[in-house]
Amino acid sequence: MIFNLPDFRVINTEFLAGELRRIIVESTFPPGCPGCGVISSRRKAGRLQRIRDIPVAGAVELVWAKRRWFCDEVLCGRKSFSEAAPQVPRFARSTARLKQDLVSAVIDSGRAVSETASAYGGVLVAGPAGLGLCRRPAAGCGPAASPDARDR
Ligand SMILES: [Zn+2]
Repeated sequence: MIFNLPDFRVINTEFLAGELRRIIVESTFPPGCPGCGVISSRRKAGRLQRIRDIPVAGAVELVWAKRRWFCDEVLCGRKSFSEAAPQVPRFARSTARLKQDLVSAVIDSGRAVSETASAYGGVLVAGPAGLGLCRRPAAGCGPAASPDARDR
């Protein structure tokens, strides 16, 4: 199966109900400390985070096995940080290509933002990381609901 999200590789695929697949990916992007820029090589624990993405490979639930890393720079104030990649920047919960697709869809079609977002299966919300797609508006997609808020 081709799942070409730049700077990520697929580490596991599970079949869920029906046609739905869960794709677990990890970042291959060098983990640079946001405090000092030094690339870390000492891994801390990680956690799974769901990432919203464009429907490239059918019905897919994308999960990022996101690691935390230690920063060993003596002069750096950060002891650890979680990784990020160009397609999923720090604090983002959807891929850059999904956001780009949403923006393009709005511009190209002239449709309303809300209409376009619903075609992608959610509503568009403005958050700290820019526009995002909220698939479960009832559960809340604001900054308060984001587990990444802990990383600040
Ligand atoms: Zn650092």
